[in-house]
Amino acid sequence: MPEASPPVVVIGAGPVGLTAAAHLLARGLNPLVLEAGPQAGHAVRAWGQVRMFSPWRFNTDAAARALLAAEGWVEPDPEAFPTGADLVRHYLAPLAASAALRDRIRYDARVTGIARRDHGRLHDGTGRDAAPLMLHLASDTALAARAVIDCSGTWGAPNPAGAHGMPAPGEAAHADRIAYGIPDVLGAERASYAGATTLVVGAGHSAMNAVLDLVELAKAAPGTRVLWAFRRPLAAMSFGGGATDGLSQRGELGARAQALVESGAVTALAPFLIDRIARDGKRLGITGRQGERETVVQADRIIVAAGFRPDLSFLREVRLGLDPAVEATPALAPLIDPNLHSCGTVRPHGEAELRHPEAGFYIAGMKSYGRAPTFLLATGYEQVRSIAAWLAGDLAAARRVDLVLPETGVCSGPSLAKVASTVSSCCAPAPAASADQGSCCGTPSVAKPVATTGCCGSAARATEAL
Ligand SMILES: Cc1cc2nc3c(=O)[nH]c(=O)nc-3n(C[C@H](O)[C@H](O)[C@H](O)COP(=O)(O)OP(=O)(O)OC[C@H]3O[C@@H](n4cnc5c(N)ncnc54)[C@H](O)[C@@H]3O)c2cc1C
Repeated sequence: MPEASPPVVVIGAGPVGLTAAAHLLARGLNPLVLEAGPQAGHAVRAWGQVRMFSPWRFNTDAAARALLAAEGWVEPDPEAFPTGADLVRHYLAPLAASAALRDRIRYDARVTGIARRDHGRLHDGTGRDAAPLMLHLASDTALAARAVIDCSGTWGAPNPAGAHGMPAPGEAAHADRIAYGIPDVLGAERASYAGATTLVVGAGHSAMNAVLDLVELAKAAPGTRVLWAFRRPLAAMSFGGGATDGLSQRGELGARAQALVESGAVTALAPFLIDRIARDGKRLGITGRQGERETVVQADRIIVAAGFRPDLSFLREVRLGLDPAVEATPALAPLIDPNLHSCGTVRPHGEAELRHPEAGFYIAGMKSYGRAPTFLLATGYEQVRSIAAWLAGDLAAARRVDLVLPETGVCSGPSLAKVASTVSSCCAPAPAASADQGSCCGTPSVAKPVATTGCCGSAARATEAL
């Protein structure tokens, strides 16, 4: 790329990064995608066996579809639910291979640092905002960018099992018996889990998927046992919106997981806060607290599906504006903070909410949510549509909202004082059915339809983590 016109660099060739590139191209801008892995959809491939809870119609983007249409792409059935592998095969791989994008993606190109050219983070200097952003790569090279959209996701930074958000003592030492995310227990990793006792840690959709797969495995492999550890007591748990969830598969996933707990098909440890992990004979001994009582449970393996956090390490030289708890921008954080409300339904948002103090730098996609759960691809597509419009100077299009999201069907608890200033904007507008509750959420809670005066306060979260 000529130095006179540095590209807009997109970090990550995941669904949101590729979509960002499509929108930038549609706006006549010059995108360059840097992907750490060897192929597009590197992170999605790692959970390829998981069936998505959103149907195809929410999983593709208009600008990307336009590029694919030029290649003779046949659009999948909009009402069908793809697996992660389907998303790669039928959408991400063809999009990355399209004539418009293929020469604009560099693989095995891990970004290790970003900074403003000739300016340290501390230095204002003259023309700081006009200077290009410099991206440093693992290959020990650097390149200049006019703007950067960080779509690097959170898959590479899973939360640990330890109770305090830190790895529990012994967690690293026993890493060979601990998996993070959703291992393919019915496929490639079956031999490790068949006939074994597995402790699943976490309460979100990933944990639910892992538990359901292990229960399926137990039907064919005698001796397979499932323990499921939650942070909270069962009475305070929410398994999602069930039949009121706008995404039926997501509601059904929670309902099936809840049924397994209630029927005793899995042993629920709730609460169970993990303090240390040690070798206990041939097994692991996992020491945790159940209220005041210390308990040790034995398991052969642990699956930690306790959500993800953003990797901010390579953004050390960038002037970021981040909420101290959520690690999303201060404008976005109140919309998604599970401490403030439990409704996973988030109003669509764009460039204005995603802006950082560092001009021309954005975090979009899964990573934009920081530590908060409930991110949807459709949200990310809207984010990058708006950012591309802004970078192209179409401010009206950047401010416009082009998206209507499905409701989660969960909204619990009264508002907290802290949320008062943000309640009017935290969720989609309430439909008539729930308007009388004065709630900001789209639908009343199936868990606890507490009379709500403001936003959704939270005894329980809508969905802990994907
Ligand atoms: C199991 C699971 C199921 C989900 N199901 C759904 C669903 O049904 N519907 C839905 O809407 N959402 C779903 N999501 C949430 C979300 O849509 C996905 O996580 C989605 O993959 C996020 O897309 P992304 O492009 O933001 O990030 P990712 O898909 O994580 O892509 C990020 C890319 O950046 C690359 N990268 C990372 N670090 C660097 C670096 N330093 N330099 C260069 N490249 C880098 C990665 O290799 C990766 O290719 C699900 C998530 C999970 C984990």
